[in-house]
Amino acid sequence: DQLVVAVDGPSGSGKSTVCKRVAAALGLRYLDTGAMYRALTWWALERGTDLDDADAVAALAVALPLELGQDPAAPTVRVAGTDVSAAIRTTRISEAVSAVAGNLAVRAELVRRQQALVAPGGVVAEGRDITTVVAPDAPVRILLTAREDARLARRAQEVHGTADAAALAATRDQVLARDARDSRVARFLDAADDGVVQVDSSDMGVEETVATVLEVVAR
Ligand code: C5P
Repeated sequence: DQLVVAVDGPSGSGKSTVCKRVAAALGLRYLDTGAMYRALTWWALERGTDLDDADAVAALAVALPLELGQDPAAPTVRVAGTDVSAAIRTTRISEAVSAVAGNLAVRAELVRRQQALVAPGGVVAEGRDITTVVAPDAPVRILLTAREDARLARRAQEVHGTADAAALAATRDQVLARDARDSRVARFLDAADDGVVQVDSSDMGVEETVATVLEVVAR
């Protein structure tokens, strides 16, 4: 059987960076489930779909012509042939995505697709409900956390290229608002399930966090 590494965590925990590095180190595929919710949100906005119309958004999820490139060195996201890898990272999408992710029919469809992608094994899958819903039987399950100050500083650095006071203030509202919206739809906050190993990245750099995750995998 091929290895499955399931990783959950909030935004700013360093999940994506760390998971790509871990997948590359182990020669595994990289599955970014957040990118799937983002891609659907992009498509719905592109088509002018009302995000509050739960049935319409659910129908789009079922029809979503999504292609994920799962090479950890160069992951890509395509919708109907268009590369949306950059477009799905904009503030506009980050602000709308939680509403889409809160649609239970959407979750049923995307979880179904995620489980099909995880099933062959040989993958590091990251998201909010991987250890609990998508791959609860994965041999390695990790909750990557970080203190709020560390998460805000990382996100400010990502978005503004600096973590000075102004950048932190600008980031704070966005990150905390998305956390609050996400806490209603995803279960990562109470993922202290049996067998889930918690890794706190607050005081570690990327290298050290990757090394820690690789140690957990090797156990
Ligand atoms: O990980 P990322 O920040 O790109 O995820 C974007 C959004 O997708 C999250 O804020 C959350 O609303 C949703 N999501 C989810 N379940 C997942 C992954 C992401 O609900 N497994």
